[in-house]
Amino acid sequence: MLILGGTSEASALARALQHDARYQLVLSYAGVTRAPVAPPVPIRIGGFGGVAGLARYLRENAVDCVIDATHPFAARITGHAVAACRETGVDLVIMNRPAWHPEAGDRWQAVPDMPAAASVLGPVPRRVFLTIGQKDLAPFAAAPWHHYLIRSIEPVPEGLLPDAAKLLGRPPFSVMDESALLERYGIELLVTKNSGGAASAAKLLAARERGIPVVMVARPAVPSAQTVPDTEAALRWLHHRMCRGV
Ligand code: NAP
Repeated sequence: MLILGGTSEASALARALQHDARYQLVLSYAGVTRAPVAPPVPIRIGGFGGVAGLARYLRENAVDCVIDATHPFAARITGHAVAACRETGVDLVIMNRPAWHPEAGDRWQAVPDMPAAASVLGPVPRRVFLTIGQKDLAPFAAAPWHHYLIRSIEPVPEGLLPDAAKLLGRPPFSVMDESALLERYGIELLVTKNSGGAASAAKLLAARERGIPVVMVARPAVPSAQTVPDTEAALRWLHHRMCRGV
């Protein structure tokens, strides 16, 4: 079994299966995070080389089941997994945590992508908290008059945004800490990706408490495939598959 990882759900699934003799699994990382918190299972790191490379990997390693537990914004690898599994006849399930939805008291503005998020910040300088990772910052260079607070797991490249404070941090965060952070930096607006999940939802609760508007970037589209919402559902899917004698 190949688990495409990089999320806490992927690690949880690998941990749940590590002692199950019915499965021989490999957990794959993109190599984006330099020190991933890896479970004690066989790991491989780095891209496969597109659809062709992934299909070759599946054949050469006699993989008969792929669980794509990558981040909801990692659309390219999901597209590759769908195509490569179709080509090779390998079973695939995508683990996709439910998106966040606004609740009473939330002041969200939904945007389709990161350039749209940068453009809705407007012409008046504001103090903007970016929790979008370090790879998607380039569009904000078009709005350099804002003061940015950037929090990411990996360091942000130098010189991308002229007026930016940088914090390194890995979820989960508490609502109390998020609220204190918003106050300390005088944050007027939060920009985030609709990643979903509990681990990074505290910032949304803190923004709601403080009446701070949120620019919510929608998930990228991915090709349709069998999808489950969480680790438990993925384990059930594996169980049913086993019962079918696969
Ligand atoms: P991506 O754009 O879907 O993938 C880019 C390339 O990275 C893929 O084409 C693939 O290379 C390789 N790749 C991605 N995930 C892989 C995996 N699990 N194992 C092996 N190779 C993998 O995804 P991304 O560049 O990682 O991230 C895109 C967005 O998702 C960003 O917004 C990022 O912040 C967010 N995100 C991703 C992860 C993650 O672990 N992937 C975690 C948190 C957040 P080849 O084509 O060469 O196979």
